[in-house]
Amino acid sequence: MEKRNKSGGSVAEVIRKINLSAQNFTVHQEKTLRALSYCRTSALGGHIDACDGCGNLSISYNSCRNRHCPQCQGHKREEWIQKREQELLPCSYYHVVFTLPEELNVLAISQSALLYKTLFEAAWATLNKFGKNKGIQLGMIAILHTWGQNLSLHPHLHCIVPGGGINKQGKWRAKIKSNKYLFCVKAMSVVFRAKFVASLRASGIKDQDLIDQLFSKKWVVYGKRPFGGPKSVIEYLGRYTHKVAISNHRIKEVTDKEVRFGYKDYRKEGQKKEMTLSNTEFIRRFSLHILPRRFVRIRHYGILSSSWKRGKLQDLQSDLKIQITEVKPKTLLKKCRCCKEGNLITIALFGQRGPPEDFLAVFNASSAK
Ligand SMILES: [Zn+2]
Ligand SMILES: [Zn+2]
Ligand SMILES: [Zn+2]
Repeated sequence: MEKRNKSGGSVAEVIRKINLSAQNFTVHQEKTLRALSYCRTSALGGHIDACDGCGNLSISYNSCRNRHCPQCQGHKREEWIQKREQELLPCSYYHVVFTLPEELNVLAISQSALLYKTLFEAAWATLNKFGKNKGIQLGMIAILHTWGQNLSLHPHLHCIVPGGGINKQGKWRAKIKSNKYLFCVKAMSVVFRAKFVASLRASGIKDQDLIDQLFSKKWVVYGKRPFGGPKSVIEYLGRYTHKVAISNHRIKEVTDKEVRFGYKDYRKEGQKKEMTLSNTEFIRRFSLHILPRRFVRIRHYGILSSSWKRGKLQDLQSDLKIQITEVKPKTLLKKCRCCKEGNLITIALFGQRGPPEDFLAVFNASSAK
């Protein structure tokens, strides 16, 4: 039914082992989990492909295309990276990570849209302020991750920031950093915390105990090693953007009761470890990372915002004489697994009832050869 990966299982398989309606999921979570469990199974119908080289026939089941599905990331990622390649600027790029303290985890579950929106806004307000202090309009691409290594709730924002920007005269400046990590992370942490809490208050969260707790501890803004060059930025984005809480290759074994998966313990220098959870606990944790409907998890700001991209960014790139490589129209053609040369052409579609019988007769005869 489902293409199994080389490791021991998939999130979809674990979902199919539990009784979804018996858990405490919201309607949206349950709907999402069900969609994932149907991915690439006969429930979604499929198509028959023929190779234009060797004539081999193959049957494929349709994907769910849900953004939380570990099996459905590849295609969107390619497209997304191609677009980002068009927007590169001639400067170093920095990577800043803004993390929320665990005191906010309760709100991350009960009011996730509000909390995550505030995270985006406070991170940008912080970076923008540090840029403005130097008389520069910055830009950033921010990517929300809500998970830690073992599927726990650990909301953080990966921000990719060009180390250049536009000065007050509207001119490009390629170097604005004040230290190795663009700006001082300690100073950024304090500003980030203040901006986040102010914005939370303004949205009606007035729980004084919580606010006191938030101010009583240090918040973490982490400056990662800067990127080698534009090419490594794109590579990095490719790895990090269209990610989900856990990829199937980390799943080692699924039984009727439990799932065993690998993770890295960052408290122990990224040591590789394994964890076993009951199927219901595993899916409960996975569901913490299902974002609210239509919540945008990758956002663009400043000189990389959509309003800039409607012309100003392109003008800037042409002023700077940046060569933009034409986007190749993406090829949807898949290669034949049999001869490895021919392209697969879809010759028929089918619904839940599976491939038509007369086709199966031909298919079985040709695969028996
Ligand atoms: Zn899918
Ligand atoms: Zn992350
Ligand atoms: Zn072929």
